[in-house]
Amino acid sequence: MPADALHDLLQRLDNAARDAGRTAPRLLAVSKTQPAEAVLALAQAGQRAFGENYVQEAAAKRAVLDATPLGPSLEWHLIGHLQSNKAKDAAAGFDWVQSVDRPALVAALARHRPADRSPLNVLVQVNLDDEASKSGCRPDEVAMLAARIAAEPRLALRGLMVIPAPTPDVERRRDAFRRARALFDAMRDAHPQVDTLSMGMSDDLEQAIAEGATLVRVGTALFGARRPRPATG
Ligand SMILES: *Cc1c(COP(=O)(O)O)cnc(C)c1O
Repeated sequence: MPADALHDLLQRLDNAARDAGRTAPRLLAVSKTQPAEAVLALAQAGQRAFGENYVQEAAAKRAVLDATPLGPSLEWHLIGHLQSNKAKDAAAGFDWVQSVDRPALVAALARHRPADRSPLNVLVQVNLDDEASKSGCRPDEVAMLAARIAAEPRLALRGLMVIPAPTPDVERRRDAFRRARALFDAMRDAHPQVDTLSMGMSDDLEQAIAEGATLVRVGTALFGARRPRPATG
């Protein structure tokens, strides 16, 4: 079952990429609210990168997966809003943090990234048009945050992450992806090492790929409906 879902989704990514005349993006499997067994099943089917929204929930799952032979080959991404008081745990428990949206977080993650690990991979999260969301910097703050991240030896600036405002209006979403792409291109002009544009989820990954996503974050289309959220932060 997990292998079928993964196969179908990879096919969907390939088709979207072919239609857009682009190379297929990497897949981040968003495993929030799913049990460790579901992550393991997908890892056994070949998936390596997993995304989680909450630091504690991810740590519990990572402990289970790290005890399996596949543990060392897995890559964990934090994609949820990060409170500064959790920055230490995030810097130790993840390989990537995609939700960096303010200077205080840059400094805290850099300070707490363990010295024996490779630099923490970081994306700037930008908020293009979602007034209801508390996450993400303003578009005019992206360059400043990118420069601060790039100046930290314990962090590796990798690119940009965006979650467009939920809307049934396909054109509006596509326009948000287009603006994200322009910001990403500008970031790459200033920082040539930048290689990751994280955008697109289960419902809109085709549009995101058409606008140049290099990594899509997919939950429900892989795992099915989310479970009730466990009572951890
Ligand atoms: C939950 C989540 C996803 C996955 O959404 P689906 O619609 O289930 O694919 C992607 N990105 C972020 C930031 C999320 O919180």
